[in-house]
Amino acid sequence: MTQTADTVWKNCLLFIKDNIKPQAYKTWFEPIKPVKISKDILTIQVPSKFFFEWLEEHYIKLLRVALVRELGEKAKLVYDVKMENSYSSKKPHTVKFPSSNRKPFNSQGVTIPLDIDRRELKNPFVIPGIQKVKIESQLNPNYNFDSFIEGDSNRLARSAGMAVANKPGGTSFNPLLIYGGVGLGKTHLAQAIGVRIKDKYPEKTVLYISSEKFTQQYIDSVRGNTRNDFIHFYQMIDVLIVDDVQFLSGKSSTQDVFFHIFNHLHQNGKQVILTSDKAPVDMQDIEQRLLSRFKWGLSAELMPPDYETRILILQNKMFRDGVEIPDDIVEYIAKNIKTNVRELEGVLISLIAQASFNRKEFTIALTKQIVDKFVKNTKKEVSIDYIQKVVSKYFEMDVSTLQSKTRKRHIVQARQLAMFFAKRMTKASLASIGSQIGSRDHATVLHACKTVDNLAETDKSFRKYVDELTKKLTF
Ligand code: ADP
Ligand code: MG
Repeated sequence: MTQTADTVWKNCLLFIKDNIKPQAYKTWFEPIKPVKISKDILTIQVPSKFFFEWLEEHYIKLLRVALVRELGEKAKLVYDVKMENSYSSKKPHTVKFPSSNRKPFNSQGVTIPLDIDRRELKNPFVIPGIQKVKIESQLNPNYNFDSFIEGDSNRLARSAGMAVANKPGGTSFNPLLIYGGVGLGKTHLAQAIGVRIKDKYPEKTVLYISSEKFTQQYIDSVRGNTRNDFIHFYQMIDVLIVDDVQFLSGKSSTQDVFFHIFNHLHQNGKQVILTSDKAPVDMQDIEQRLLSRFKWGLSAELMPPDYETRILILQNKMFRDGVEIPDDIVEYIAKNIKTNVRELEGVLISLIAQASFNRKEFTIALTKQIVDKFVKNTKKEVSIDYIQKVVSKYFEMDVSTLQSKTRKRHIVQARQLAMFFAKRMTKASLASIGSQIGSRDHATVLHACKTVDNLAETDKSFRKYVDELTKKLTF
């Protein structure tokens, strides 16, 4: 079978869709058009330079994985960038693109070799006998102190972080535990400390790692009989940053090994920095002896930023992205998004994107639309039960009918729609969706999702079901 650009891209999209949030998918992937394929080079068309840069910055890894799955290791991607001379015929605002410092760029199209796994951890294990090896820090230089806006909500954590960065291992903030809710800057701050240390003390070995990756490496080392190498590797680090330690909960053997590494580092005056979504007292299924270590140093909380800080964060982000947006719009965003900096940035970014490729103006109405979506997406987590109820009611049947084994077409369709929405609107796995909707297996759910996707594309009246149900489920 010969592959066409359409089929290759379609398969890539299936994979991508499964790996990112629906909002991001809609914004950044739906507008892309496959152009052509020759050998292992896929050309895609993107609406603007901004768009291209955005994909490069945020989704290049995902794109790579998707393409390699389709075209093999040699896969390459070429962007066809639609260039427009005047950004907008009316000029209610200006958008300046930051000068692209990353890659060569020209208006025809850009080839980017997809060798972008630089930030993957190199084989983390040291050859015995060799003491110093260069360890990639896994830090993102954009997460630095300059870009971390100070406010009442983060002053303590920020200045503790600064103190640690100036004197790693030499303060009483060891470990430094940064905790707080989702999207409040834990990762950013923890990385900023690492970035600053690397800057001030280039000879120090700094390593940033998520606790999930740490766990995975540990499991692999047990399987591969290299547990000791694993421990040695971590004991060599001068500054160890472990992100999201709450994920260690319930994993007792990983906690055990972390305990030993922690003790070794601490005793040797090395700095440990941890983040968590909970205060130590609220952490569950973490061994007592490890918890007590977490409490040795300083636990600093990141709180939701106040209004002034939210404005500053937005302005800073706009400045960095080279975008100007009217004050009343910035204020509107800051007033309505209160508990999560990531969302604050998300709204701004969607707004820029919308305006950039739909050629819309920055208006309060557009902003409100975007804000509403964000607030709804995060606040409203629907359950599979609720979805089944809404779908059954819509087709005027009982939930038990929807779940029954019958092959009657309209019932099968209702069931498939319920599965489709469960996949789209909840975090449940295919298997768990199947078991809750009439004890089906994961393959059935997967099939249902594909069928609905297909029908929605080809069948107008079916499309109407999907749209109407979407409204009922989201409002
Ligand atoms: P967490 O790890 O707590 O979930 P992140 O560190 O990933 O949150 O932060 C989410 C986003 O918000 C990031 O893009 C980060 O740069 C930004 N952010 C958070 N706090 C601040 C701040 N005080 N100043 C600037 N940006 C911030
Ligand atoms: Mg984080």
